[in-house]
Amino acid sequence: MPEIAEVETIRRQLLTLFPAQIVAYRSGRFVTTFLEDFFQVNLQQRTICEVSRYGKWLIFVMDHGAFYFLTHLGMSGRWLLGERWLNQSHVHLTVCLAVGSGNLVYLSYQDPRRFGRWLWFRADQFQNWLSRHQAPDVLSHDFDLDYLSWVCLSHAQRILKPTLLDQSLFPGVGNYLASEICHEAGLAPTRPLGSLNHHEIFRLKEAIHSVIDRCLSFGGTSFLGGYRDVNGLLSQSCHLRVFRQPFCRTCFLRRKGKKSPVRVIVQSSRRTFYCPNCQK
Ligand SMILES: [Zn+2]
Repeated sequence: MPEIAEVETIRRQLLTLFPAQIVAYRSGRFVTTFLEDFFQVNLQQRTICEVSRYGKWLIFVMDHGAFYFLTHLGMSGRWLLGERWLNQSHVHLTVCLAVGSGNLVYLSYQDPRRFGRWLWFRADQFQNWLSRHQAPDVLSHDFDLDYLSWVCLSHAQRILKPTLLDQSLFPGVGNYLASEICHEAGLAPTRPLGSLNHHEIFRLKEAIHSVIDRCLSFGGTSFLGGYRDVNGLLSQSCHLRVFRQPFCRTCFLRRKGKKSPVRVIVQSSRRTFYCPNCQK
């Protein structure tokens, strides 16, 4: 499933296109899977002014903020750029955009498994939606040590790794990032938040940023059948240290080839990968 690093990669790849006007669009027969009342939305001649992001939501700002089109990629959603209408299976929407000097580009939403979601808002509805999502995006300036200390204090009984998946506290973090973040911070995924001291909370904050930065530098992370960037390219997963790894890569690099087996446990129905050597 695309997480914050993948959605942010897509956002950065799309940024230079906008502002752009939608001169035509086509939708597939399953389009109402994503937005129930899609056919009441008229995209024709609207201008996409910019694209922003909150957590795993990509936010297209339309008509100078009069409307907002939000998309969540679910399990297998992807936005693909091309030079013509995309005639492939599982394409649910293509918009033809007039960009810059009037060149036409085609932006298509493809989603084989159809777990993606879309939202279409007027400005006031968007503000309402935002007010119900108060946790700072983990890449935002407001996601700081004070916020993380407050989370640990007010959710002291909760367990570290499953809590990292809670979108109301850590918008954008998903399963592979959560395992990697615990590992980078040197913290066992089973630790209650209340057991973390000030120094460990600081390490956790640094780990969140450094793991996401590393993933961004690789253009996100692809797993079998999943994420592709807007050019349809897969990303590498060679930067992962424990997630789906047989041996801890940190131990291997730091301890001259030592092969510490990665342990796999199930927490809240999700697999967690960790290294008992590195994480306490
Ligand atoms: Zn290790």
